[in-house]
Amino acid sequence: MPARNRRLHGYHKLSGQRILPSPNFKALTIKHSGLASRIITAVSITAAFDPSNPPNPLPAQVPTSALWDTGASRSAITPSVVKSLCLSPIGTQVVNHFGGSSTKPTYLVNLHLPNNVAFAGVVVTECEEIAHFGFILGMEIIARGDLSITNYDNQTWVSFRVPSLAGIDYVQEFNKLQFAGVGRNDPCPCGKQDANGKVIKFKRCHGLN
Ligand SMILES: [Zn+2]
Repeated sequence: MPARNRRLHGYHKLSGQRILPSPNFKALTIKHSGLASRIITAVSITAAFDPSNPPNPLPAQVPTSALWDTGASRSAITPSVVKSLCLSPIGTQVVNHFGGSSTKPTYLVNLHLPNNVAFAGVVVTECEEIAHFGFILGMEIIARGDLSITNYDNQTWVSFRVPSLAGIDYVQEFNKLQFAGVGRNDPCPCGKQDANGKVIKFKRCHGLN
């Protein structure tokens, strides 16, 4: 195994002595059978604990649905889930909403998403009761990883990994196809000129990156 790959992946031994690479990220994918009008995943919530030193017995888990909300800066939890978990507030948060603002209690929870994607010690604010969801997953969680939503063939696929490992850039993909075969030092085919009227080299124009 090349050293580069060894740095990227940890290794663990299975009982059969086979050593398998252990990727350095966790991921979940949800494939809808049609176009999704919103992104919802199963989630289970517990009172916060340190996963490296879990209490015995583990705190009660409440399964519910999480709405992925890129319009929410912070994650939120409904009063009914708070009640099921018997959570105690750790503070308050002023929440601005249509028609004014109000002060809501905050709680510390652990979040368990499908396929072992989990977050410990998440501060969540209590929100209004919402039909069908117990949890709103906000940007502070989404921003810890890479999220993609694709709709190829009218099927919404949502994929998320933590931590973030790379950017996705469809413009770069387009440029790669459009300018395939152009050398880095060739004049850029777009014809853009510098101050002296000379066509800029591809590597300094559309060939950047
Ligand atoms: Zn160009």
